[in-house]
Amino acid sequence: MDVSIVIPLFNEDESLPELTAWIEKVVTENQLSYEVIMIDDGSTDQSWSVIEALRKNNPNIKGIKFQRNYGKSAALNEGFKAAQGEVIITMDADMQDSPDEIPGLRNMLLDGNYDIVSGWKKKRFDNALTKNLPSKLFNAAARKMSKIQLNDFNCGLKAYKLKVVKCIEVYGEMHRYVPVLAKWAGFRKIGEKVVEHRPRKYGVTKFGWDRFVNGFLDLMTIFFVGKFGKRPMHFFGLWGMASFGFGFLVFIYLTVSKFFFDVTGMTERPLFFFAILAMIIGTQLFLAGFIGELITRNATERNHYLIEDKLGL
Ligand code: UDP
Ligand code: MG
Repeated sequence: MDVSIVIPLFNEDESLPELTAWIEKVVTENQLSYEVIMIDDGSTDQSWSVIEALRKNNPNIKGIKFQRNYGKSAALNEGFKAAQGEVIITMDADMQDSPDEIPGLRNMLLDGNYDIVSGWKKKRFDNALTKNLPSKLFNAAARKMSKIQLNDFNCGLKAYKLKVVKCIEVYGEMHRYVPVLAKWAGFRKIGEKVVEHRPRKYGVTKFGWDRFVNGFLDLMTIFFVGKFGKRPMHFFGLWGMASFGFGFLVFIYLTVSKFFFDVTGMTERPLFFFAILAMIIGTQLFLAGFIGELITRNATERNHYLIEDKLGL
């Protein structure tokens, strides 16, 4: 199969018939064998019955229905598990992503031998203040932390090689950082292609203000898990020892000045409390690191390595 089109959707019944008709038109024009995997993320509208009806006319359309709303990441994750095509294309269901981009993304992925080709909504049809500006900041931060040079991490329209989606697990709200997850799994060839972005035709956006907070927290998670996820002691232990050591030195200074230079009122000096605080914080940080290490030692994933190839075994 040439291409699997994975579409997470939550209450998008109005768009689906038009979207699938357009996809069908594009893939048949380009003579691609395909499947469309629609993941209904607990919609409360008619989305699932629309998908059932669409499948009656076109067996290439497949569906997964969640019992409740788990989020876009969960939907992508299940779609990735089910996909079988040589190339996987993800796109949003709200027709903001144009199916016309499918052949272009696929060709760039295969010809350039990329692991991922990510779409870039260079000209965006969203609210400038609430979406475009914050997303610029996010992308800058994500670029810095992940060292992946993408302008638009969170674009819904992306193309992947099959093995990439089989190796990554998208959880929480990590759909914003799928290229980072792929990089962790060892897929470094990540390209970007400018894609057409369109205004939302039906329905409303499913991401409110909380996406700023969640997006930021996930960025921190990405950073810490990526850098210290398998060795928490290197982060907490280092700062714990630094803080404790600093407090301890100050304490020695205070003690020496009391016993050898007769400076009275040791407990009335601000430095005294400062030293105690530094030592307590240091111990706490060290403990956090130690507990973290114990947890990673017990984690089921601890010896889970992705092996690309084997010879003679
Ligand atoms: N979506 C989903 N589950 C959710 C929220 C969103 O599957 O809990 C889907 C949604 O139906 C759409 C895509 O994710 O297909 C992108 O969502 P949306 O268009 O609302 O995001 P925006 O374009 O406003 O950033
Ligand atoms: Mg949208």
